[in-house]
Parts: sequence; structure tokens; C-alpha cells
Amino acid sequence: MKTAVYPGSFDPVTFGHLDIIRRAAAMFDRLNVTVMINTAKTPLFLTEERVKILQDATSQIPNVTVDSYHGLLIDYCRDKGIHIAIRGLRAITDFEYELQIAQTNKELSHGDLDTVFLTTDLRYSYLSSSTVREIASFGGDVSALVPDFVEKMLYSKYRKEEN
Ligand code: ADP
Repeated sequence: MKTAVYPGSFDPVTFGHLDIIRRAAAMFDRLNVTVMINTAKTPLFLTEERVKILQDATSQIPNVTVDSYHGLLIDYCRDKGIHIAIRGLRAITDFEYELQIAQTNKELSHGDLDTVFLTTDLRYSYLSSSTVREIASFGGDVSALVPDFVEKMLYSKYRKEEN
């Protein structure tokens, strides 16, 4: 059985991520979507919230499992017996950063972890979680960028922050 992992911050998941998830899930027997806990970043959504959002957003895709991990991706993959990580590419700027990470993971895992890149759907090439957060923080319309229930959660987060 071929399992791949799609790691990321997903703060929050966008239609760009969901497009990558759908396409990767069609290529592998199982896809683990893993919220990587990065202590250097202060996320808008708690890890548990991001996991729940991803679970709800992917509930129609039977071979997708959502979890979270605090640690190195290579350690997660070793524990789970996974040899392929999926990452998305939007632009050349993503490529430079992603190539460095992919090579680091390959090196650190002694060749055990390969990265497969999926290019973004052109509709989502400009889309990032940080853009979504910024638009929502000013009350802007993000309905074309994230699922409805995520849009509602974004507005309620920012309303709470204001109070
Ligand atoms: P990270 O903080 O690890 O970059 P993100 O949640 O921002 O986590 O992104 C996870 C992965 O999804 C990265 O490989 C990123 O390039 C990719 N990604 C993000 N947005 C899009 C998009 N709109 N289209 C395709 N890939 C995307």
C-alpha cells in the first residue's frame, strides 16, 4: 500500500490546498494530511482547530487521514513507514524554498524520503493562507478562497480578537 504525507501549516486550509489534497489522494492508496506544529510561528487557529477543519473539509475523500505532528517530517515519516511527501508549487518563489526543504529531507533521511511536487491549479496560483487571513481580518470576502464553514470561523476569530 502506497501512502504519502502532505505536511503543512494549513492555517487555515484553502481551496489551493484542497485541490492538491484531491489530486494527491487520487495518486496514492492513502494520504495523510499532517498539520506540522511549528513553534516559531504563532498560528491563527490552534492545532486541534486546524485538524478538525481539515477533517471536515476532506470528509468526502475516503483515503485521506488528518493528523498533527510536533517534530521533524523525516521522524514522522520513519515512524509511519512513509517515503513520499507531497508539496504544492505556486510560483518560482515557492520552488526555491521547496527545493531546499526537499533536498534537506532527502539528505536527513539518508535517501528514504522523496518529495513529489504538484503544480497549483492556475485558479489558485495566487492563493495562500496568509492572504486569506489578511483579507478576512479586514472583513473582506474570502468565499472564493476557502470553504463556507472556514470563512465563518475566520470572521468569528477576528471578531473575538477585536473584543
Ligand atoms: P507551510 O507553512 O508548510 O508552507 P502551507 O500550509 O502554507 O504550509 O502550505 C503547505 C503546502 O501547500 C506547501 O507546499 C505550499 O506550497 C502548498 N500550497 C499552499 N497554497 C497552495 C496553492 N494555492 N496551490 C498549490 N499549493 C499550495
